[in-house]
Order: sequence, then structure tokens, then C-alpha cells
Amino acid sequence: MSDFLPTGIQLSYLVAASLFIVGLKQLGSPATARNGNLLASVGMLLAIAATLLDRQVLNYEMILIGLATGSAIGAIAAQRVAMTEMPQMVGLLNGLGGLASALVAVAEFWRLIDASAPIPLDANVSMLLDVFIGGVTFTGSMVAFAKLQGLISGSPITFPLQQPFNILLLIGFVVGSGYLLVSPENVPLFLGVVAVSLLLGVLFVIPIGGGDMPVVISLLNSLSGIAASAAGFVVMNNMLIIAGALVGASGLILTQIMCKAMNRSLFSVLFGAFGTGGAASGGAGAAEIEKNVRSIDPEEGAMMLGYARSVVIVPGYGMAVAQAQHSVRELADQLERMGVDVKYAIHPVAGRMPGHMNVLLAEANVPYPQLSDMDDINPQFEQTDVALVIGANDVVNPAARHDAASPIYGMPILEVDKAKQTIVIKRGMSTGFAGVDNELFYKDKTTMLFGSAKDMVAKLVSEVKQL
Ligand code: NDP
Repeated sequence: MSDFLPTGIQLSYLVAASLFIVGLKQLGSPATARNGNLLASVGMLLAIAATLLDRQVLNYEMILIGLATGSAIGAIAAQRVAMTEMPQMVGLLNGLGGLASALVAVAEFWRLIDASAPIPLDANVSMLLDVFIGGVTFTGSMVAFAKLQGLISGSPITFPLQQPFNILLLIGFVVGSGYLLVSPENVPLFLGVVAVSLLLGVLFVIPIGGGDMPVVISLLNSLSGIAASAAGFVVMNNMLIIAGALVGASGLILTQIMCKAMNRSLFSVLFGAFGTGGAASGGAGAAEIEKNVRSIDPEEGAMMLGYARSVVIVPGYGMAVAQAQHSVRELADQLERMGVDVKYAIHPVAGRMPGHMNVLLAEANVPYPQLSDMDDINPQFEQTDVALVIGANDVVNPAARHDAASPIYGMPILEVDKAKQTIVIKRGMSTGFAGVDNELFYKDKTTMLFGSAKDMVAKLVSEVKQL
């Protein structure tokens, strides 16, 4: 048995790693995502079970206490969190992942110091990397969480000579770490590099505007994976190394996708203030509404929709806030019963997190085949009778195509302005995440249906039923 165990564990790790990879692949499409999630969960269960059987694991009581406490907190938090608060929830979890990885390195350092054992160079490098990445991830994620949760200001927090100060701290970390590689038993210096790592995490995130936090959180997610991978090298655990590397790589790819869909470079997200606070500004005001936009009531909206041959629904952040997805599905069902061809157009960064709209519409049981990606639906708008924009703003702003001065210039958009008619449901004339006015609202073919998304869609449903 004792000979078998290590081989059995390594084999289980191999199977678990394969399940992770297949699971990740399946997460790439809505049709297979559920199954992918299940496969990856089975892989994780297998990895945990194999690790618990490992002879190095000695204290099952502590593990059980940790498991029970963590599971209880996680279950309660997952029940309570609103879909729109998901980015900060993910941020919090990333931060704790980073902290756990950093603590592994600190514990290993203490174990070796206590045992007066020599600290090999490779283990020392892994520990220092783990402390650095884990520490930055932990405090950086906590600041990101606090900004998104409104606990601290979402605006960029800057002070004179901020970047030189950060660089000085980074040099301090590198020099301190270099010294520790030569004399690893220097406890005060080790604590010093831990403190610098934690401080750097805070300083890295405070100058970034709250609106850019979801991208930062995705990057921190990637870092938490790399920290876990470094922790895997510290305790020489293949599973942790592989799982961490997968999280690191996929987080980086996601960050890249988000930046591309927002037409922002990662550099400008990290070092240029934008989308401060993420909150919509007060809006253009009633005077402008009267002057420039055409407003309709639900009855008129229902007539336009009910007598159309084709309708494309464009959901955005406002639909998520209003939790209008179930009413939207009801409206689509009703229109389909009346012979209208209904599709949903999904922009990759609609809402506040990747896949936000897909998740909400899946929750309302909207069939996957009705969801169309931006590239597929854009050529179809010219033949569409009515584009129904529900709480979306930036992702349908035509200025992105032609106004080089606009902050969203170059961002690919859903071209609803090319539809024969466009109805926009929103509460007023407030801007979206990017804080810019939307010329779509003032176009001749556009009509505004002012009100909260859930309320307005429900009214449309009842009006459409009466047609
Ligand atoms: P926007 O943030 O551009 O606009 C949302 C609109 O919804 C607002 O103009 C607001 O107008 C309206 N709204 C708010 N509450 C309600 C409500 N209860 N009922 C009806 N309308 C409401 O949303 P989009 O989805 O178009 O764009 C997403 C933006 O977020 C993009 O700029 C993207 O780059 C950014 N982003 C996306 C991320 C992602 O991963 N998805 C991550 C980070 C940023 P009003 O107040 O007048 O009602």
C-alpha cells in the first residue's frame, strides 16, 4: 500500500489535470459549459481526495475545521451575492487564494527555520516568488473589492511621485530577496519582503479607476493562479503547479479578451485613469431629452414589436441591474407566438463581467441557439425591423465607429443603428460605464422607452398580449 500510494496519487493528479483541461475547453461554449464545469469539479474532488490520502498530510482535524468553516462561509456568501456584485465576489475569492498561497510560503519558511534546516536555493526562489505574487494578489484584490463594493472611493487615488515610489519598493523587494537567497535565515528581512509585497498590492490597484476593476480582477485572478503554482513548487505538489498554471493562463487570456472588447490596452487599464467609479453620471438632463429624443410609451412600443417580422433584443448592464431577464424571456416568447423572429445579440463586454448576459439569459432559460455573437448578428441588423436595446449603452454607441475623440473609439459595437427601428429602454439619459453620451439616442430611427427595464418590459408584455 505504501508503495502504491505515491503512484496512485500521481496518477489521480494526472486524471484530475486532464479533467481540468477538458473542462476548461468545454467552458468555451454555452452549450457545453455546464458539462465542462461538472468535469472540472470532479477533477477537483479527485485532486482533493488524492491529496488527503497523501502521507504528508498529517493533521486531518485542522483540515476538517478549515473545510467546514470555508464551506459554510462560501455557501452563505454565494447565496447572498447579487449577480451584479459578482466581480467583487470574484475579487474577494482571488485575494483569499493569493493569501493562502503566500501563507504556504511563509509556513514553509518557518518550518525550515524551526528545523534549522538549510534552505535550498530552488525552494528559496519559489518561496520568495510565492510571497511576492500571493501578497500582491491578496492586498490588490482587497482594494479592488473595496472599490467595487463602494467601501472606498472608486476614483483613482494618486499621490506625487507614486510611480517612482512603487519602483523604489520593487527594487527594495528584489535587493532584499537577493540577500535572502544568500542568507535565507534572516527572519526580519523575510518579514520585510512580505510587508513590501503586501504594500505593492495596495499601491498597484489604488490608482486604477473603479470602472476598470473588472479587468484588474481578471488580471489578479491570473496572478492568484501563478501564486498557487509557485506554492506548488514550494511544497512540491504537481497538482497545485498544474492547476495554478491553468488558472494563470486562462485568467491572462480572459484579461486580454476583455481589453480587446473594450478596445483598451492592458497598459492603459493599469496606468491610465478611465471609467472612474464605474457609476453612470447624472445624465444629460430633461432639457436635452425634450430637445433631441423621441420618447414613446409601452403601448406604442408593443405595436412596433408586435407588428415586426424580426426583432433583435440587445441586453446590457441595465437589464442585469433591474433583473429583467425573466420578463425579457416572456416578451420574446410572446412575440414568437405571434410569428415574430426573435434573436438576442450578445456583446462580449455587455454588463460588468465576461459572460454576464449569457449567464442571466441562461438563468431565464433562453435557448442558446437564440443567442448571437456580435460578429454573427451585426450583418443582420440592416434586415432587422426592430432592435430592442434593454439597459445597454456603450456597447451600442455608434461613436465608437467614427468619433476618434471618443474614449470608446475603436471598440467593436452592436450596430443597432442600422436596424429599421430601434427602441431603447433605460431610465433616463444617464451615460454608461464609459461616461460618454450616446448619439444613438438622438437618431431619427431611435425611440426611447423611459423607465426601469423590468417594469417597462413587463408593460410591453401585457401590451403585446392585447394586440
Ligand atoms: P453601460 O454601462 O454602457 O450602460 C448601462 C445603462 O443601463 C446605463 O446607461 C443606464 O442608464 C441603464 N440602466 C441602469 N439601470 C437601469 C435599469 N434599472 N433599467 C434600465 N436601464 C438601466 O452598459 P453596457 O452593457 O452597454 O456596456 C457595458 C460597459 O461596461 C462597457 O463600457 C464595457 O466596456 C464595460 N465593462 C464591461 C465589463 C465586462 O466584462 N462585461 C468589464 C468592465 C467594464 P439610465 O441610468 O439612464 O437608466
